[in-house]
Amino acid sequence: MPETLTCQAPAKLNLALSVGPPGEDGMHPICTWMIAIDLCDELTVTRLEADRLSRYAILWHEDAKRQSDIDWPITRDLAVRAHLALEQHTNRRLPVQLKLQKRIPVAGGLGGGSSDAAAMLRTVNELYDLGLSMEQLREIAAGIGSDVPFFIAGGSAVVQGFGDEIEHHDRAPQLHAVIVFPETMCPTGHVYSELDELSPGPLRADEVQSLIRLSRMSAAPPEAVFNDLTQPAIRVAPELEGHLAKLTELAERPAHVAGSGSSLFVLCDDALHAQDLAEAIEQRLDLPAVAVQPHEVCNVAAE
Ligand code: ATP
Repeated sequence: MPETLTCQAPAKLNLALSVGPPGEDGMHPICTWMIAIDLCDELTVTRLEADRLSRYAILWHEDAKRQSDIDWPITRDLAVRAHLALEQHTNRRLPVQLKLQKRIPVAGGLGGGSSDAAAMLRTVNELYDLGLSMEQLREIAAGIGSDVPFFIAGGSAVVQGFGDEIEHHDRAPQLHAVIVFPETMCPTGHVYSELDELSPGPLRADEVQSLIRLSRMSAAPPEAVFNDLTQPAIRVAPELEGHLAKLTELAERPAHVAGSGSSLFVLCDDALHAQDLAEAIEQRLDLPAVAVQPHEVCNVAAE
């Protein structure tokens, strides 16, 4: 059994995101097409002797494009919470040393913390040979956050309900995009509070499915991409509106808010187009940008 495992925790893009009105508990049902992309945080997890205490280090990867303060208490970190949830589920101590090197911006609508949590569940499951199934891992994941179950397998999926109804696709779609990282942050809770002020309309599951159907015939049509959190995110960070306009002008095609923001994205024709556009955005708009494509494998590797 290897002592140290590494794991990539991919970000996600919502190509279509419909949010329904809240139930009595204030929770919003969603229907979204989610795709894991190759912008990844990196976990290195080492198994420690049985009598040792776990230790955790969370830091920015040296090539992270947008770094902010890592200012949350360690016990609130989602990867750490995933580890503690696994110890609770198995009713045993699972001492580890975690080094989490982040590239995915915080409060950027790209699911970084959720993906870190899912990666931690998968890695510790292997490191300790716990034998938990994907379904069991998804159940533990659901207790940590609504985006976490999706990241257990990643890939491409329609995610509904409260993140717990996941229909994975056999293969990821053809997708090339540029993600742009404005400096501002959009904490998810604030964005949903703004959505409530705007009184959300009904869930649009049909429109999510029709975008998926269209994308099977060719690449996802940029005009059909939609996000019900766009206006709420702009209310949280009004400067996003100006960034969207400048990006749309430069790219000569629509720019979109990623999830709950603040990251933005533009769909591209191919890898070269995405690379060129990312460079143009960095030079002409002075915003960090990265070209991405789907991240299909969610493997855990021995060091
Ligand atoms: P999502 O797309 O899932 O909403 P997000 O990047 O937009 O992700 P938020 O939901 O706003 O982010 O959550 C960000 C907050 O989560 C951080 O400010 C921090 O307090 C907390 N957090 C805990 N663990 C992590 C982690 N490993 N990475 C990033 N944020 C984390």
